Amino acid sequence: MKTVNHWIGGKTVEGASGNYGPVTDPATGEVTTQVALASAAEVDAAVQVAKEAFLSWGQSSLAARTKVLFAYRALLDANRDAIAELITAEHGKVHSDALGEVARGLEIVELACGITTQLKGELSTSVSNRVDVAAIRQPLGVVAGITPFNFPAMVPMWMFPLAVACGNTFVLKPSEKDPSAANKLAELATEAGLPAGVLNVVHGDKVAVDALLSHPDVAAVSFVGSTPIARHIHTTASANGKRVQALGGAKNHMLVLPDADLDAAADAAVSAAYGSAGERCMAISAVVAVGAIGDVLVEKIRERAEKIKIGPGNDPASEMGPLITAAHRDKVASYVKGAADQGAEVVLDGTGYTVEGHENGHWIGLSLLDHVKTDSDAYRDEIFGPVLCVLRAETYEEGVALINASPFGNGTAIFTRDGGAARRFQLEIQAGMVGVNVPIPVPVGYHSFGGWKDSLFGDHHIYGNDGIHFYTRGKVVTTRWPDPSEDHAGVDLGFPRNH
Ligand code: NAD
Repeated sequence: MKTVNHWIGGKTVEGASGNYGPVTDPATGEVTTQVALASAAEVDAAVQVAKEAFLSWGQSSLAARTKVLFAYRALLDANRDAIAELITAEHGKVHSDALGEVARGLEIVELACGITTQLKGELSTSVSNRVDVAAIRQPLGVVAGITPFNFPAMVPMWMFPLAVACGNTFVLKPSEKDPSAANKLAELATEAGLPAGVLNVVHGDKVAVDALLSHPDVAAVSFVGSTPIARHIHTTASANGKRVQALGGAKNHMLVLPDADLDAAADAAVSAAYGSAGERCMAISAVVAVGAIGDVLVEKIRERAEKIKIGPGNDPASEMGPLITAAHRDKVASYVKGAADQGAEVVLDGTGYTVEGHENGHWIGLSLLDHVKTDSDAYRDEIFGPVLCVLRAETYEEGVALINASPFGNGTAIFTRDGGAARRFQLEIQAGMVGVNVPIPVPVGYHSFGGWKDSLFGDHHIYGNDGIHFYTRGKVVTTRWPDPSEDHAGVDLGFPRNH
């Protein structure tokens, strides 16, 4: 069996506590790997290595940092397939989808390659008599990242490339369900020339996370995961005096107006609801059909969903893979099984699905629930599986009110040909990321990603300008070089004024 150990100080470090957790191939149900689970002492050892590395990395030149980042970008590019294969083997998503995740992570490395421009600072000359003011941004120190299972490469890459480009050192605690991709990312960073200790990977569970949240030498925490854990991370790390951004779960709606291209809307709904088996924080999980189009739209979605090919992620014919664990598959199935009793019409029931030759995989088929009630479990909870709920609204206003009543506010989309309605939607909808005829509006790397309400705790979205702000702190330097020929003003107890 393969063992995944920590990556600390630029090398593999075996788990000293002797605790290991199982990693399963979701397509076969077999435990293929064991992953080290760090104790608080092991987390402390990694933080100490990162703290030591910060002494020099925090002082390194921008030229030295960008040299490493450009080399890293090239190595990642050359290793796209290898990273995607690690993702598929432990997460289960199909290879093409895993490649998409790597590509979106690379965008942030590319942004980090341009850190020279982003960290230029500001200078005002002659704000007063021979006085200049400069605003600079400096790194924080040791930063921790805690990441979810559903994007084992992309979400870590939302964090550490920018954090280290800004001069911080980093301790990553990836999901224990699919840990291998994180080690590959760190190994490649070392190969690219990142000095030992600048990027460390510590594997573990709640024990490791809580050790990071309370560690006095961790300056900031970036978290991405489910809403209850995001809330815990934000509360605990804030109470311990750390800067925190904690991105949580979602229930993303797609509002379809009567004038929309219904074929395009149905294509988009199927792609965004069932891609990665619905295990995306930006998955569309609720379609709100406005006016009389509901029946036609549901039929178009059903026709398309029935054709999706389910199978192992490493089979090029598969469009959708298995779910992460058997327990999660059973939980997802329970929402479909309970849907009719809570008032929904079950158009497609994906429960009980299996793939020949892979009977122990964590399979579930595609489910489509129509006339879903807003007080039902299938609507209220983030299911995180291939289950699409359709709701009906009489008017645009009713649809927007329904979406805005959700406690989540990650992404949302409108499908329409009416520019005025789309513009109104952008302004009225309560969510952090909005798509107009775009079902999964994940911002490009040079904008920032983040939700509202229970989808994000903290003030900063992730990556883009918000990311650079999060990983740096401001300092303003006021300088005066008096003219030696002038008399200085002497003692003056008044508050300094500019003139
Ligand atoms: P999760 O919250 O269970 O786990 C995330 C991380 O927290 C993991 O590293 C895990 O080890 C750790 N963790 C789990 N339980 C913990 C506890 N009790 N105390 C401390 N740490 C704990 O999330 P997941 O199941 O791995 O990922 C899926 C969730 O992540 C979904 O809710 C999804 O919407 C969300 N997500 C959100 C975004 C976003 O950008 N908003 C992106 C991806 C995933």
